[in-house]
Amino acid sequence: MKPVVFITRKLPDEVVVPLQEKFTVRMWKSESESVPRDVLLKEVADADALWSVIADQIDKEVFDAAKKLKVVSNLAVGFNNIDTEAAQSKGVIVTNTPGVLTNTTADLTFALLLATARKLIEAESELRKGNWKSWTPMDYTGMDVGGATIGIIGMGRIGEAVARRAMGFDMKVLYHNRSRKLEAEKAYGFEYKELDDLLIQSDFVVILAPFTPETKGLIGQRELELMKETSVLINVARGGIVDEEALYFALKNNQIWAAGLDVFEVEPVDPNHPLLTLPNVTVLPHIGSASIDTRIGMMNLNAYAIIDVLEGREPENRLV
Ligand code: NAP
Repeated sequence: MKPVVFITRKLPDEVVVPLQEKFTVRMWKSESESVPRDVLLKEVADADALWSVIADQIDKEVFDAAKKLKVVSNLAVGFNNIDTEAAQSKGVIVTNTPGVLTNTTADLTFALLLATARKLIEAESELRKGNWKSWTPMDYTGMDVGGATIGIIGMGRIGEAVARRAMGFDMKVLYHNRSRKLEAEKAYGFEYKELDDLLIQSDFVVILAPFTPETKGLIGQRELELMKETSVLINVARGGIVDEEALYFALKNNQIWAAGLDVFEVEPVDPNHPLLTLPNVTVLPHIGSASIDTRIGMMNLNAYAIIDVLEGREPENRLV
């Protein structure tokens, strides 16, 4: 009997074929819709490997339902959708896809920052609606990025890649982590700040920390009140790091100038979400790592990790 792999989304043939040559591969039929919970619980029961995406909650119930599971390979660097303690207690290995998506996500972060600061989406959509009647002195005027101060919360792989891009825009780079990055400080002049100081001093606050119990609601009413009235908040990490109700209030009352969001507390975001009614919010459907090469690269990491574990080797990018 060949080991069984269950994949929770329809994935391109090129990343699935190497698994099909070795194992019995079962795959959920849809590329865009999550596998229903009851199907997931049924499929995982006799699976040796589970290939998950961030929309799947791989919690204790899933690990309890799995009788033979050896590995969960998650198609993301973030793994807040997986109960790693439950995995560990069942002896299941968990892997993710760090590194390969770093530059692509940093590019998107910077694109979102520029788009929000310079009102690109609003201007483009008004032009398409036929509302470009003449050149105007103050329409679509935004905030300067060049020479401004960027404060990065979560100066890891992606945070550093964003900081290097910011240097190309002559920006002053502040950062906040739980630990200092002395080499980067020395090499590039990045300045470490306590969170409150970073919020007070930055023109652009960019969130790139993982979503953990510690970072849940890290940016709430108090933190938004510390930010400049002219500042822009960019969140490409995970929605739950920002208190969305507090953010709505801060944007509506011009406590901060704008926000750019690639992620939301609940995804996909409800099109009637209050934040989407505000003109000073730029929204994207969680596309940080969405380039063709990067997504294929991420999927290849998942496939290799599954092959390694099922063939008895230590996988790369093991979390537990
Ligand atoms: P990483 O290299 O692990 O960097 C995360 C950084 O956050 C670390 O430097 C860490 O430093 C810091 N951090 C952790 N806990 C913190 C806390 N409580 N307060 C402040 N800083 C904290 O991860 P990465 O590869 O850069 O990815 C970062 C996150 O981006 C992922 O977890 C994921 O959720 C998100 N992401 C989103 C997309 C997207 O499509 N939107 C794509 C890729 C990644 P310390 O340990 O020193 O605190």
